[in-house]
Parts: sequence; structure tokens; C-alpha cells
Amino acid sequence: AIDLADVHLSLGTGAARVHILKGVTLKIRQGEAVGLVGPSGSGKSTLLMTLGGLERPDSGSIRIAGQDLGVLDEDGLAKFRGRHIGVVFQSFHLIPTMTALENVAVPLELAGRRDAFVRAEAELEAVGLGARQAHYPAQLSGGEQQRVALARALAPEPAILIADEPTGNLDEGTGAGIVELMFRLKRERGATLVLVTHDLGLAARCDRMIRIRSGHIEADEATKVEAAE
Ligand code: ATP
Ligand code: MG
Repeated sequence: AIDLADVHLSLGTGAARVHILKGVTLKIRQGEAVGLVGPSGSGKSTLLMTLGGLERPDSGSIRIAGQDLGVLDEDGLAKFRGRHIGVVFQSFHLIPTMTALENVAVPLELAGRRDAFVRAEAELEAVGLGARQAHYPAQLSGGEQQRVALARALAPEPAILIADEPTGNLDEGTGAGIVELMFRLKRERGATLVLVTHDLGLAARCDRMIRIRSGHIEADEATKVEAAE
């Protein structure tokens, strides 16, 4: 579970300092899929990075799987993220000088996994890129690059996957393929998925949609009626 209590966050320095998150309180259950929507500049990306432990709040607390992130030092926080949180960005963020396989395997290796290359191969298989391991990012289509990024994010078997407009740079059909894959892998692994998107149809496929406006939660609602127990 992810648990944010009255989180405030500012970014930038001097005259460019902006108070972005203005008291966000939020609980996300393990295995839940949450779509974050809202106008441009409302703070979606900032909230996503904050709840993924990539930004430290000015005040308020963040707990992930019972761990209070505030008590971790930088090194501890980086290790925690590496184990628990997978991240996918709009613009893939692959390392251009590494093959698809290396892009997935090297972070695992750096984290001390001895089976890094074996795991990486399995992850590329899982996203349908078993035959593209030796390709460099420039030799892959956008959709293929995003699948490599997804394999990399999921390789450490994180409990949480966060994605910032993962289909934003892809055409509709390719984006839909990535979304299917993301939901399937999330389901199979019981991971929590938090997804920023401008696509309301995509957000509606999540269990819950949270609308952000000016750094506040404006609406937070289930997208489907749960079957009665
Ligand atoms: P979009 O839909 O355009 O991606 P968003 O909802 O993701 O928007 P954020 O990127 O979270 O919005 O930004 C929220 C606000 O914070 C914006 O007004 C932005 O200008 C400001 N901001 C973001 N990062 C910084 C930074 N590093 N320094 C100063 N201001 C920032
Ligand atoms: Mg954004």
C-alpha cells in the first residue's frame, strides 16, 4: 500500500520556486490500479514522483509497504526504490549505448542480482521482445522502446509500477498495445499501478480515478462498481 498524509512539495529555487503539492492525503491499496488525471501543470507528474519516492516532500509523510520514506537517507531511499518501485516515463529513458538486454540487465546487476542477464531475457520475452535483445534503442520502434522500458521497470519485481503518460509518445494502436501489456503484467504479478494520463478512457480502465487540480485532489472515485462480497 501507498499512504500519503498531508504532503506538501515545492520545487525550483529562488524566484522560480513553486509550491506544487498543497496537502495531498491519499491511500492506495496493494494491487490497485489508479489513474491520475487533471489539467496540464496541475501537479500530476510531481505527485507521481513524490508517491514513488523520487521527490521528497517539504512536509507530510509517505509510507510505502509500511516503510516511512522520511526516515531513510538518500542511499536507503535509492535502495528502497530499486527494490519496490518500477518507473516508466513518456520518453522511454533508455540508455542509447546499451542493447535492449543490457538496458534491462545492467540495473539488476548494479543492484547485486547474479541472475541479472537471465532475468532480463525472461522479461524481454514477457513483453514480446525476445527476438530484439541485441538491438540498440535507435534500432527499435517507439513501441518497442517502451516495451524495453516496461521490462526494465518490472525486472526487479517491484510491488509498485508508476508510469507518467507511458503512451504519450506513441500512436493510438501502439499505445493501446502497451496499455494491454501493462495491465496484464500488473494483474499477473499483483502489482500496484499508478498511471498519469490525459486519456480519460485509459484512466477509466483503472480501478480508481483521481483528479488533480492546482496541487489538490479534486475528485477521487472508483471507476467501476465492485461486486458485493
Ligand atoms: P502536464 O500534464 O503538462 O505534464 P503535470 O500535471 O504533470 O502537467 P507537473 O509537471 O507536476 O504538472 O508540474 C506542476 C507545476 O509545477 C507546474 O506549474 C510546473 O511549472 C511546476 N514545476 C514542475 N517542476 C518544477 C521545477 N523543477 N521547478 C519549478 N517548478 C516546477
Ligand atoms: Mg506531467
